[in-house]
Amino acid sequence: MDSLAREYPDLFYMDILGYGTEYGEPIWYMKISDNPEIDEDEPAILLHGCMHADEILSTEVLMHYLKDFSRRYNENDPRVLNWARGLEIYVIPILNVEGHKVVEDGITWWRKTCRDNNLNGVFDTLMDGVDLNRNFSLGWSGGPADTSDFFYRGPWPFSESEAQAIRELSYRKKFIIAIDYHSPTYGRPEVVYYSWNRSEMGGLAVDHKMLLDAAHNFATSILKDDGINPYDYSQSSAGNGYHRMWQYNRFAAIAFTCEISDTTIQDTSMVDMICEHHIPGIEYLMDRALGTGLNGLVTDAETGEPVWAEVKILQAYHPNMARRFTIPETGRYRRLLLPGIYTLEVEADGYRTKRFYNLTVHGDGSTIFNVEMEPGRLYTGVDEIYLPDGLALKQNYPNPFNARTTIEYTVGPADYSEILKREFPVNLAVYNLQGHKVTELINNIQHPGTYSITWDAKDRHGNPLSTGVYFYRLEVGNSPNRIETRKMLLVK
Ligand SMILES: [Zn+2]
Repeated sequence: MDSLAREYPDLFYMDILGYGTEYGEPIWYMKISDNPEIDEDEPAILLHGCMHADEILSTEVLMHYLKDFSRRYNENDPRVLNWARGLEIYVIPILNVEGHKVVEDGITWWRKTCRDNNLNGVFDTLMDGVDLNRNFSLGWSGGPADTSDFFYRGPWPFSESEAQAIRELSYRKKFIIAIDYHSPTYGRPEVVYYSWNRSEMGGLAVDHKMLLDAAHNFATSILKDDGINPYDYSQSSAGNGYHRMWQYNRFAAIAFTCEISDTTIQDTSMVDMICEHHIPGIEYLMDRALGTGLNGLVTDAETGEPVWAEVKILQAYHPNMARRFTIPETGRYRRLLLPGIYTLEVEADGYRTKRFYNLTVHGDGSTIFNVEMEPGRLYTGVDEIYLPDGLALKQNYPNPFNARTTIEYTVGPADYSEILKREFPVNLAVYNLQGHKVTELINNIQHPGTYSITWDAKDRHGNPLSTGVYFYRLEVGNSPNRIETRKMLLVK
């Protein structure tokens, strides 16, 4: 890893993430990005391996990914250049460094950290160590409390400095994708676990459809050791103190556990093939991080300064889940979503709360929606803003036309029932090539819905117009970006 970082200083930055719980061994991470030494305002991905000390395949896969990325970067592979430019990717090949030393020293089945549970000053495989993937806070109390247990949860949530290191980095970067790689010691082989169905969170994850879609796409990008079938994916609602549960709850991240291969320590001859099978999975994650979702800057309307604000998507919200905030330094929020129409609520101390209805998230790339917050210390209500979005102006038919043509358009198609009570000023007008308005077809207040109107090719005085190109322009609401224009041809 060290040599990769030295060879590609424009792509890789290597540093210490934190230190082991018992002996203070450094935990190293590699950051992949253009300008890797600088914190950029880009979506961030976390990939880590070897939470469980003996699951060395996870380290192999992540090291192979780093080498593959650098090789293709060197070859100017456009996809790799795009990921390096658009993302910040944090890779931790070995999280449980101290536990892994125990494995290297010959206790090949060791899983936990090296915490001296009985404080006798001696490392003891019967009594010591904490299972890092039971040490995160969500559901922690449900994990095994017996120190000798192979899945011991630890004396308190985040007791282990390895877990603390992940927590601190995650609060800083607010990963939108976070994957912990394992290999199966006890559970199913070759599977991706996604979250969740938890009664205290209202049952199925509020992002269930998005998570299922991502789990399907991620798992089916990875070939099993048989070289034929793709990985399975499975919802796992258990998860007391699991990393992925915490990441999803805290940051709404796509957070999965990936169990590599069908055994903990695989035959050496198979390792290269297994690593190669995992590259398309990580490629999917990188594409997904740049894909459909919502992001924007929350700023003070008067000063333009970033605002530390709570950002809610009301269609993917549960009051028992952790609150999601903007990154304080930039005011940036990010949320991966499926295409659709959402309600966005932004709340910050000292500002009027804003709720935007009818916000369309498009299917191609991340939709940007910036929010300016107005200072209003004493105001306790919510400013409700109904976006006349989803405006669509279709091509007229027939076209070219002679006697008459029909124009169809849509005003704010909303899945939110409140929107149906609202109305928007709508204007549909025809212009000639010189930009002069020849007639107005609609100038009215309309409810959301799809409308059509037929035009008889006459101007506002009822005079037939001559052959030529005309433009028709739809304007909904009062905002200048709610305008669409199309061209049509009149042939006499
Ligand atoms: Zn594991």
